[in-house]
Amino acid sequence: GGGASPTAAAAENGTRKVIPLSRDALQDFMLSIITQKLQDEKQPFYVLDLGEVVSLIDQWKSALPNIRPFYAVKCNPEPSFLSILSAMGSNFDCASRAEIEYVLSLGISPDRIVFANPCKPESDIIFAAKVGVNLTTYDSEDEVYKIRKHHPKSELLLRIKPMFDGNARCPMGPKYGALPEEVEPLLRAAQAARLTVSGVSFHIGSGDADSNAYLGAIAAAKEVFETAAKLGMSKMTVLDVGGGFTSGHQFTTAAVAVRSALKQHFDDQPELTIIAEPGRFFAETAFTLATTIIGKRVRGELREYWINDGLYGSMNCVLYDHATVNATPLAVLSNRTNVTCGGSKTFPTTVFGPTCDALDTVLRDYQLPELQVNDWLVFPNMGAYTKAAGSNFNGFNTSAIVTHLAYAYPS
Ligand code: PLP
Repeated sequence: GGGASPTAAAAENGTRKVIPLSRDALQDFMLSIITQKLQDEKQPFYVLDLGEVVSLIDQWKSALPNIRPFYAVKCNPEPSFLSILSAMGSNFDCASRAEIEYVLSLGISPDRIVFANPCKPESDIIFAAKVGVNLTTYDSEDEVYKIRKHHPKSELLLRIKPMFDGNARCPMGPKYGALPEEVEPLLRAAQAARLTVSGVSFHIGSGDADSNAYLGAIAAAKEVFETAAKLGMSKMTVLDVGGGFTSGHQFTTAAVAVRSALKQHFDDQPELTIIAEPGRFFAETAFTLATTIIGKRVRGELREYWINDGLYGSMNCVLYDHATVNATPLAVLSNRTNVTCGGSKTFPTTVFGPTCDALDTVLRDYQLPELQVNDWLVFPNMGAYTKAAGSNFNGFNTSAIVTHLAYAYPS
């Protein structure tokens, strides 16, 4: 079966645990949304697969049982998604006042939030103090002064720059993280300000990150723990291994690297609290985007289609996240014959977004069967850094795109 809007309790229902949607179930669900006209004027929509989220949480718990995830809200702040993650035990990494407000508005308590932005506006620090978000990151002396002034009760994590950054699609090193020679001065600055540095954080970079980067980063974190001890600071208790996880085989190798580095460097500290800030790992595969073809042009063999989402909307991931997107016509999403589209012959195809900018081109040299205006084109794995960073350029408004929650039980 499948359906919309279950309560979070449906996630764990005795033996009837939800499972990821099959292609048949996803197609049926999308068709039901379309035929029930839950979509006004053929607007694009997302499907959030509850079973996929449950499966990802299970994978996390079995591969990294001692690491508490703090989901990075920036990756996809969809409220129903945050609620499911919360119900399944995840905590949250917020980058701004607004993200803290989303999380608190879901009834999640402030001690389940890390304010993991090393450089915060003073107004946001004041807000964190007011609502009791008492853990944050820093990598500059000025941040120490701001926190001392506005939120002296906040505990700090020193964000370090891993020396081998993971060659990720989106590296963090050029912007964030203390260099090795900055560690001691930054610890002393916090000590002088009478702030508690409770641990260390890092981020190896996001998207296709090399898992080996966790090894060097965790070794470097251990050196910071030792430096703090040498300075006579109170014993550090938190290690934050950041994000950089991608579901699939990268996650398996990342988990092996993280576990072995923890064993090598932190085995002597069994009481250590280890946390992480995964974004992409939980969000990417959980969301599928359905768009409509709103225009068509034929030039010889070439087929050109315009769809109602694009590079200024959900597919901004092509630019900012250096992502590659894939499309399948809804009619051929599952290979059942009861839903048909233009035959099996495919054509070289270009897919444009809706804005009047030629840059707004989603797919080039792509093979698709013949499609018509009003057909639906489906993009899988669209949960990470997509809608969250979309704009309303040309009046196409990403935040208006609705998310429908789907779930399936084993048959
Ligand atoms: N934590 C911080 C501080 C980040 O800046 C990011 C991404 O930008 C994340 C976590 C999430 O990273 P990922 O999606 O690679 O897990």
